[in-house]
Amino acid sequence: MLLPRPIQILVSALERLPGVGPKSASRLAFYLLRAPDEVSEELSQALSGLKGKIAFCEECFNFTEAGQSRCEICEDDQRDGGVLCVVEEALDVVALERVGAYTGKYHVLHGVLSPIEGIGPGDIRVKPLVERVAKGGIREVILATNPSMEGDATALYLQQQLRPLGVQITRLARGLPVGGDLEYADQNTILRALTGRSEMS
Ligand SMILES: [Zn+2]
Repeated sequence: MLLPRPIQILVSALERLPGVGPKSASRLAFYLLRAPDEVSEELSQALSGLKGKIAFCEECFNFTEAGQSRCEICEDDQRDGGVLCVVEEALDVVALERVGAYTGKYHVLHGVLSPIEGIGPGDIRVKPLVERVAKGGIREVILATNPSMEGDATALYLQQQLRPLGVQITRLARGLPVGGDLEYADQNTILRALTGRSEMS
């Protein structure tokens, strides 16, 4: 079936999104055509200039609204600034926050070490983490990188970097499926991994 060009353009744009195949892309496009105008207008407004409206938190590198130097979590004085949870991606913060059991702060690496892909310590936010811990006031660093080969290697590297600074370094418990992402784990699994965390030897 040959679709009018504007629909074709929308379908192929949707198809490029992760987890959206050609079938769901067409389904979404036709849904938008049938839905009230506000639905597609809201969507288009949310997408328009999205990247320009977002910045990185200067402290933890989580996403924040452009114009704000610190994210909401860093700004929150109720949270324990003595505990830092180090995650691979900002999405992992969302996953951990959804569980609601963690009251410390975060550090987002924006990647993991991967020699195969040529990603070294200089390519992810390792240096700002070490500097942040070196400044003092932090008792525990929870290494919450994913239980994958790269995630484990990154945790080990971070442990070596942080050990001389005299903080307690813990790793999430092995409740998470090996090779699985924090992002896809259910809330109970994350909670178990968090509460069962143990000191890295
Ligand atoms: Zn922050």
